[in-house]
Amino acid sequence: MAIHSSDAVVLHHLDYGEADRIVTFFSFEQGLVKGFARQARKSRKRFGAALEPFASVHIRWQSQRGRDLVSLQDAELVDLRNGLRHNLLALALAAYGCELVEKLLGESESNPQVFHLLNAFLDHVNRHGGSEEARLLFELRLLCLAGYEPHLLHCCQCGVLLKAETVGFAAAPGGGLCPECAGGADVQRLSPLSLGSLSRALQAPSTLFEGFRFGPRTLQEGGRAVAALLKQHLCRPVKSQSFLTQLIEGSARAAAIR
Ligand SMILES: [Zn+2]
Repeated sequence: MAIHSSDAVVLHHLDYGEADRIVTFFSFEQGLVKGFARQARKSRKRFGAALEPFASVHIRWQSQRGRDLVSLQDAELVDLRNGLRHNLLALALAAYGCELVEKLLGESESNPQVFHLLNAFLDHVNRHGGSEEARLLFELRLLCLAGYEPHLLHCCQCGVLLKAETVGFAAAPGGGLCPECAGGADVQRLSPLSLGSLSRALQAPSTLFEGFRFGPRTLQEGGRAVAALLKQHLCRPVKSQSFLTQLIEGSARAAAIR
């Protein structure tokens, strides 16, 4: 048996039996880990509120060779991020971000940059609520850190600079396409300015979320492009996505009526 300890973000949990809990967390040291917390709902001393979703914690666990589920020893709460529980859009966005990390990275190995990105994203929506900018930035940065960086400024097939009035975009070949390479293929058509805005956003530190403003066209075209990339690289559907989309569309309708 080996003892491990790490800073971590709790992604979600599942109550099990009378008092136990199965917890999935993303740790700085080992990436995605799933653990069994015996008596978690009764033992305030060992876990307190530290196993709530989206919380930042310092956690200790024991692993045994050949077993998928580790045994959680105790957890110390660093930040509960309670603001998320008072704002439905922020809560939906936090759940979506956590699920995206789990589904896109899988049980691989540690990824400290993704750990910092997730923490910064959750801190941002906890303090400032949800926004389309925060969602787009998070999705795009996560794709890049997971190894799926798209071509945004140059054609992904021939390498030419994308400067025509309208260019193509397709997830399978890896991003932007010049008019010649896009040809008559069924690809998304968008402005290279939208792709340029996304590319500039990627120049900023990946933990910075404040101060970004994208125009409506970049949000719409960039959002569709990033959604296509996620669909290309995710093996399983993201369950929290439909609830998030319903909320965003609902608030857009309400704004239009006002
Ligand atoms: Zn080309």
